[in-house]
Amino acid sequence: MAKQEFWFIVGSQHLYGEAVLKTVEKRAQEMAKMINTYRELPAHFVFKTVVKTSDDATKIIKEANYDDNCLGIVTWCHTFSPSKMWINGLKLLQKPWCHLATQYNQEIPNQEIDMDFMNLNQAAHGDREHGFIGARLRINHKVIMGYWKDKNVLHELSHWMRSAIGYHESSQLRVMRFGDNMRNVAVTEGDKVEAQIKLGWEVNTWAVGDLVKEMKKVKKNEIDALMKIYQHNYDIKTKHLDLVRYQALEEIAMKKMLEREHCLAFTNTFEDLYGMEQLPGLATQHLMSLGYGYGGEGDWKVSALTHIIKKMTEGMGGGTSFMEDYTYNLVKGKEFSLGAHMLEVCPSLASQRPRIETHHLGIGMNQKDPARLVFAGKPGKATVTSLIDMGGRLRMIVQDIEVVKSPYSMPNLPTARVLWKAYPSLQEGAKLWIMAGGAHHTVLSMDATPTMLKDLASMWGIEFVHISKDTTASQLKAELDLYDLAWRR
Ligand code: MN
Repeated sequence: MAKQEFWFIVGSQHLYGEAVLKTVEKRAQEMAKMINTYRELPAHFVFKTVVKTSDDATKIIKEANYDDNCLGIVTWCHTFSPSKMWINGLKLLQKPWCHLATQYNQEIPNQEIDMDFMNLNQAAHGDREHGFIGARLRINHKVIMGYWKDKNVLHELSHWMRSAIGYHESSQLRVMRFGDNMRNVAVTEGDKVEAQIKLGWEVNTWAVGDLVKEMKKVKKNEIDALMKIYQHNYDIKTKHLDLVRYQALEEIAMKKMLEREHCLAFTNTFEDLYGMEQLPGLATQHLMSLGYGYGGEGDWKVSALTHIIKKMTEGMGGGTSFMEDYTYNLVKGKEFSLGAHMLEVCPSLASQRPRIETHHLGIGMNQKDPARLVFAGKPGKATVTSLIDMGGRLRMIVQDIEVVKSPYSMPNLPTARVLWKAYPSLQEGAKLWIMAGGAHHTVLSMDATPTMLKDLASMWGIEFVHISKDTTASQLKAELDLYDLAWRR
């Protein structure tokens, strides 16, 4: 993320004279410099200019739009900045916008305060004028309020920046589909044209036969090198090294095609493995650990979202994976959801060193036992996110969950597994999820917070539903009914 920047643009006007404007600029530089040192910040925070006229506002917003390194703007009004000055500029804005409502001084200086002080330090009404124009123009944007040195404010800002990084990644994402979606499944379908218009994704299909051709070109020494990486990262708990080597072969071929086509996410389906001996398991898991997005059964929406959330949360240290709701434990007081997939769960969620195992997989076209990583998920707070096509619009659904240390060893389960408590409870939470139409495929993230995901949905301009400890069925029903009215266009 070395070159990526967020631009700090400060509002004022000529009314107060040059001395005040000089002070405003000096302080804005000081603030940007300090904010830029905050350790959680995922990109650079750069002071750009003090806007004093409508031409200033239009000029800097045009520059922000066309600068590839600028991922968003952060505005603040040290003094009063009449908001009609901002209309023409903000109407052109094509990047995420955060209004940081703050104040240079933390405390009212009892002895010094006079009318000169009041003219300079008037963010309290400058930011209200600025807020009005954001509301009046109905631009989706973030408002953060608080003292600029406050850790909570900087934390909030850094999370919003992460959402904007996700938005930027989304705007140039290409997804490679090996084959089509699983036959007859509804929720993995969707309008790829609408997705590109709204989210920026280019989703296209390559024949499995092309992948098989690519696999035939992979050399022995390439497989040897990847086997060394597998051995370094994982415990090989199978005698059938040939089956593991076959996964390495698949991974190398898929990676070459992904790189050639500039794709950072992919899908495949067990129903279409023509010419392949195994459904990619370990291969997909290792690619996910490198940051690639994946969705099973041709689910390109969850694949793209997996990559975007991985990119948004880079360096946070938790973990993010494609996930599927598999089975419940409905015993009173011990209500859990068990998430897994046939093979493909990302080892970034692992609580222990993953094991490579080979087992029979009855489903699909497998001729041989696919090698896969087996592990249990690490405990902690997390979110599961689903993106569904409602016909004419997209809906993001996020649920708060808590991954737990499993009381079950499940020695005969041949896949990676994650056990979690859902909010408000398993029973209520699953009901709410089903009411909202959430898919069985999700992105599970130990890093992405509901606010980060909500801000991403807001940047995309899509519907957002959050299922938290406080959500009730009647409230959700009313919300969904309102959305049906609001989004009917
Ligand atoms: Mn699935």
